[in-house]
Order: sequence, then structure tokens, then C-alpha cells
Amino acid sequence: MNMSVFSHPEFDNHEHLSFFSDPETGLRAIVAVHNTNRGPALGGCRMYPYASDEEALRDVLRLSKGMTYKSALANLDLGGGKSVIIGDPRAHKSEALMEAMGRFLEQLGGLYIAAEDSGTSVADLQVMGRRTRHVAGIAPRAGFDGQPSNGDPSPATAYGTFVGLQAAVQHRLGRGDLEGLTVAVQGIGNVGYRLARHLKEAGAKLYVHDVYAESVERAVDELGATAVSGDEILKLDVDVVAPCALGAVLNDDSIGKLQAKVVAGAANNQLAQSHHDAVLAGRGILYAPDFVINAGGIIDVCHERNGHDAAAVRAHVETIGDTLGEIFARAEHGSQPTGVIANQLAEERFRGKSQL
Ligand code: NAD
Repeated sequence: MNMSVFSHPEFDNHEHLSFFSDPETGLRAIVAVHNTNRGPALGGCRMYPYASDEEALRDVLRLSKGMTYKSALANLDLGGGKSVIIGDPRAHKSEALMEAMGRFLEQLGGLYIAAEDSGTSVADLQVMGRRTRHVAGIAPRAGFDGQPSNGDPSPATAYGTFVGLQAAVQHRLGRGDLEGLTVAVQGIGNVGYRLARHLKEAGAKLYVHDVYAESVERAVDELGATAVSGDEILKLDVDVVAPCALGAVLNDDSIGKLQAKVVAGAANNQLAQSHHDAVLAGRGILYAPDFVINAGGIIDVCHERNGHDAAAVRAHVETIGDTLGEIFARAEHGSQPTGVIANQLAEERFRGKSQL
């Protein structure tokens, strides 16, 4: 198959693409740098058994562009990039392969900085880090919540989601406190559980579902949550639905059944298709765009590079609420879906700004 780049449907004037091959270790990788107007391109290094080179290229082009928008909306001096390693992380991963990736990243001289992503772990990034300085999210440190951390961004992601949820509730329901607010949390994992705890501390009443019974039990026992079935969680008569598990949960089927007035959760790619933000708006449901509300993690990772002062990270994460407030106001004023406005605001923040 002929693989095109400049005429690829996902090509969006990406600044730089690198293809790396190391026969000795079997490494095949692509690095895409979408835009560096705000700073070096930071983004995850994904390892996945792509069925074809074309599939890997499509993913890296799409995901690197997404990082430009996400970092700009998070007020970070970073651009957008991503890397993909073609291979099955369970079968093909080795220290030699990760070191080879590190060597390649070093060649890029800091244009792109790799972080953990699906198929790679903090430990893998540390192995890459033997060969390059251009990896992030690997330094042991006091975590965002004061606990020792190996770089897990979940506490910051959960706090950012909590702050963003508050902004959405303020905008849509006109209330500044969460006392008695009802929230359905789908997925009680690293982020979902911590979000639920913040909500509980703020006086909210919780409904939860997870495919793991132990996670549900913990939320019931420790947070007084009510367990509901997977079929019910998105359809409950609650104030807010917080998707914190999977993507594509907001689709033609589920949106019609939502009773909540606000959707604000951490899961990536919640909209099954991009126009579903308009469908939500049409039903009077305020949607907090996922790539804005879940940016706490990347903010945390970025601060690691600047010395990591917990108070500074916290203050920065709290700007997620301000950004969402601006998006909600503009969306209402212009009668536009929140996702569209978020993209416009990101473009305002990264276009025309060049500092490298
Ligand atoms: P996680 O794997 O710790 O938690 C996800 C939870 O969802 C698990 O407990 C899992 O059992 C549950 N789950 C899976 N399928 C489900 C279903 N059908 N119904 C209900 N629950 C289901 O992951 P996480 O780190 O908490 O991340 C959650 C989401 O937030 C993901 O979409 C992730 O991409 C996104 N996100 C996470 C971070 C972060 O810092 N961890 C940052 C940005 C975005």
C-alpha cells in the first residue's frame, strides 16, 4: 500500500515527522510533532500492535494534533506531539527496544518530549531516559496530593476534573456549592475514585458503576456511594454524569437517555463522533470537553520539568475551571457547541504565538 503523508486526511500541517527503525531490537516507531508555537512538543509514547503502518501513521498524526490543542487550553508552554511504537507491548517490549527509542528521541534534540501512554509505563520511560533527557513524568517526587509518587498523574487529573465539574455546575445549574448535588460516576479507577472522593468531601451524593465489583464496594464502603448497574449509570435522574472509564460513551443511543444537565468527567474521547457535542447542546445538556477538563495530568507532568512545586501545580490545575468558564460563556453567547468553542480557543492560544 502506498502511504501518503502530505495528502493524508489527518495531516494538518504537522511541523515534523520522523520514522525510526532499528533492526537489532525490532524497533519501528513514528514521532509526530504537530505544532511547537508554544514550546517543545510533549505527548505520550504509545506502544500498540498496529495492523499496518498506515494505521500507526493515522494515530500519531491525529493524537499529536490533539496534544497541541490540549496543551494550549491548559495554558502550558508546550506544543503538541506524540510517538507510536509499532508492536505488541506484551510480546515485543524489551529494555533494548526502549533504549533504542531513547537514542532516537535524543536525536530530535528536545523538539519532542515523550511521556507514558497506553502500552508504555513509567518504568519503560525510565529505560528510555538512560539514552535521552527528553522524557517526562518519570521523576520520583512528592505527588500532587502530598503522597509519594512515581509520577502518576491521576491525582492531578482527578482534581482538575473536580474543579471543571464545579465550573460546569456553576454555569448550568447556577450554584457555587456541591452540597446535595447528585453525581453518577462511571468507572471508579485511578481518576474516578479520587474524583468521587473530592465530590463526597464537597457534600455530593454519589452513584457509581464499575466493571470491577471490588472498586464498586470500596466506593460504597468508603464514600457512601450507591451502586447501580452499567445499564443505569448514564440514565439516572441526577444533576451530573461523570464518565471516567471509556471513550465513545456519548453517542446517539446514550445521549437520548441522559437525564443529567451536565456531563463532566475525565474519560478521553467521550464523544462517539465530533458532532455529538451539538446533540448534547440541543438537549440542553452542558458538556465539559474531555480534553479540557482532564488536563490536570499533563499539567502535573509539565511541572515536573520546572521543579514541581505542589502549590504551583494546584494553582495551575485550577485554571481548568477558568478556561471551562470561558468556553461555556462563549458557547452560550454564540449558540455553539462547547467542543467547537474549545477548539477555537485553543487555536487562538497557539496560532500566532511563536517563541522557539
Ligand atoms: P483506570 O484504568 O484506573 O480506571 C478506569 C476504570 O473504568 C477501571 O476501574 C475499569 O474497571 C472501569 N471500567 C472499564 N470499563 C467500564 C465500563 N464499561 N463501565 C464502568 N466502568 C468501566 O483509568 P484512569 O487512569 O482512572 O483513567 C480513566 C479515564 O480517564 C480514561 O479514559 C483515561 O484515558 C482518562 N484520563 C486519565 C488520565 C490520568 O491521569 N490517569 C488523564 C487524562 C485522561
